[in-house]
Amino acid sequence: MTVQSHFFQTLAQKQGACLRQAPWTLAQINPATVNLLSRKKLAENLLECILPLLEVSGDLNRFAGLQPLYEGINLLDPHYCRRDEAQRMLEKCLGFNDYQRTQLAGAVMHFMDIVKQTNLNTLQLKTNEILTLWWKIFPQTKAWQALKWLWDQGVAVPHSQSGFRAWRRFSQGSIADSENISETHPKKWLEICEEQTDFATAFEADRMAAAFSGDGRHAGLAGICGDLPDCDNCALNTECLWCGADTNSVKFNIAEKIQRNLISAADIPQLMHWLLTSTQEEGKALEHALNPDAPLKDWSWKRLRILEKTQPLGSELVLRLEALRELCKNYGIEKLKPQDQFSSSRDIFKHFHQQLSRQKQEQFIIVLLDNKHRYLAEEDVSKGILNKSLVHPREVFASAIEHRAAAMICIHNHPSGDPEPSQEDLRITERLVEVGKLVGIPVLDHVIVGNESYTSFADKGLL
Ligand code: SF4
Repeated sequence: MTVQSHFFQTLAQKQGACLRQAPWTLAQINPATVNLLSRKKLAENLLECILPLLEVSGDLNRFAGLQPLYEGINLLDPHYCRRDEAQRMLEKCLGFNDYQRTQLAGAVMHFMDIVKQTNLNTLQLKTNEILTLWWKIFPQTKAWQALKWLWDQGVAVPHSQSGFRAWRRFSQGSIADSENISETHPKKWLEICEEQTDFATAFEADRMAAAFSGDGRHAGLAGICGDLPDCDNCALNTECLWCGADTNSVKFNIAEKIQRNLISAADIPQLMHWLLTSTQEEGKALEHALNPDAPLKDWSWKRLRILEKTQPLGSELVLRLEALRELCKNYGIEKLKPQDQFSSSRDIFKHFHQQLSRQKQEQFIIVLLDNKHRYLAEEDVSKGILNKSLVHPREVFASAIEHRAAAMICIHNHPSGDPEPSQEDLRITERLVEVGKLVGIPVLDHVIVGNESYTSFADKGLL
């Protein structure tokens, strides 16, 4: 049994019955059926697909700016089409830059070549020679998209990238060489599928791997070897090289480390890179501006400003970094529900710590309680340097009365990180406690949240 076949044979043996019985609606199409596709429809669909890949502005379309292209591509004669004709057609369009014009001129010429050679016969459209032309039409990194697009047009060509990934995990034990384009190019997957003589067609082998790997979701299958391989529940795990890999001796890339739950603090810079950057330029800008050893929370505004200046034009790198920081800050914050109870000041600190400890300004919050001291609601009273005018009893108690609260707890943060109460904190608290007694809504505690510690007025006997 060749290495190429081992995966499929094990799969067919151990999971075949269940995967084959699945209602592969799309796979039931006979891949040997011959259809002739409409040239006009195919050309329009192709343009709709590749224009965004070439980053052509969404404001340009067949009705605005691109009419000469949409109309002209149907009028060109595939047998006598010359590149200068295609270029003239593109020059009549509005809004293309030189790069887009050159790429599109090439794409139009390849498309004409395909029309000439195949007459848009679905069987001809998936031969190796013609697939090479489709891959020239799509940007180099979008070769899989070309196959998926062909499949959407009714050409039954293998196209499961996820199935290929499952094959690579099982047979090679790693997907770490994913930078190597020839190793990950769909051409290799087509060759592998074509070698599978146990299947009636290469397409059937592809569908089997797709159903196993998660691309089979359309058929109601969960996918065992998808983005997060479920090795514990996989019937192939005893023979799988990925599953049997010695995690101490094998070097994994960042995606594999995530999948294997192997991320450690040392991987954070690489993880940030992986999460935030989508182009080499963005990667370089990130490396240049930020100290990879500094924790995310310590990345200062000054560093972000440097990054803002060096990030590529049109990039949202700084925004994405900020979004990630917000996500980390808020991760784990649970929303309180009515009837929840705090049993001690530590509970209050634990609940508000993440939310308040990294605020750059002081924030004053009240938690309103019912007559059994259960949670009713929570209100932001003010933000800024706390003083008597910012935390006025009128504002604090208006909301308590509105909610018909029976008691309340006050919480605020010290951005310095030191939770010791200031003179102003003592004065504000004293005033709120007095008003609370007058209106019959007692202030049960005032908790000051610092960096890793807190002060409770109630615990210190200051109320
Ligand atoms: S054992 Fe894990 S990695 Fe291997 S084929 Fe099964 S799910 Fe995929």
